[in-house]
Amino acid sequence: MKQELRKTGLSRRNQMSEVEVRNLSAKIIEEIKKQLPIDKYDVLGFYMPLGNEVDLRPLMAELIAKGKTIVIPKVLDKNTMEFYPLQDMDDYYIGKFNVREPKSNKKMPKTKIDIIFVPGIYFSADKYRLGFGAGYYDRYLKDYPNLKVGICYGFQYIPEFPSDIHDVPMDLIITENPSHPYHDGD
Ligand code: ADP
Ligand code: MG
Repeated sequence: MKQELRKTGLSRRNQMSEVEVRNLSAKIIEEIKKQLPIDKYDVLGFYMPLGNEVDLRPLMAELIAKGKTIVIPKVLDKNTMEFYPLQDMDDYYIGKFNVREPKSNKKMPKTKIDIIFVPGIYFSADKYRLGFGAGYYDRYLKDYPNLKVGICYGFQYIPEFPSDIHDVPMDLIITENPSHPYHDGD
């Protein structure tokens, strides 16, 4: 079931044009700025887009220029991923799964990352995530104490899909579709 859904979602996303990716990504960045107090965070977890994933690089560059610490994931082994600082937008090499990974070896402690933007193939109304199927984010986020924000295009935000006991839900999902500012309940 999850596997079928991954195929559907990826093939739909692979059909997007470059212009569509760019325009929707720009709208999603606008929504992030509207829905979150982005200047409040000091250490922010992002990702380098793979294929047609939502491209948040313009926002990452802007935050680096403002002196914020941007961290992105690096796969260490079959089970483990950790976040490392990206000094500038070219400070990467091509790692596992063809993903661009940071050159730095100074691992950022999990508790110091204020917010993590998480890419996905689908997100559900109850904020579960469907990823590529390796479980890296589930393992990393299970004891991550701060804000987890799922990032996807509107067509990837769907009512429901089956989740497993190990799946870690997000606190918030942001797409290009306008929504209210996020309040964490306190
Ligand atoms: P994705 O989250 O990428 O869509 P899945 O949720 O299907 O992928 O997880 C893939 C695999 O990762 C699972 O089959 C499971 O074996 C493993 N996994 C996920 N979270 C954990 C965890 N907390 N501990 C051990 N294994 C896990
Ligand atoms: Mg999962």
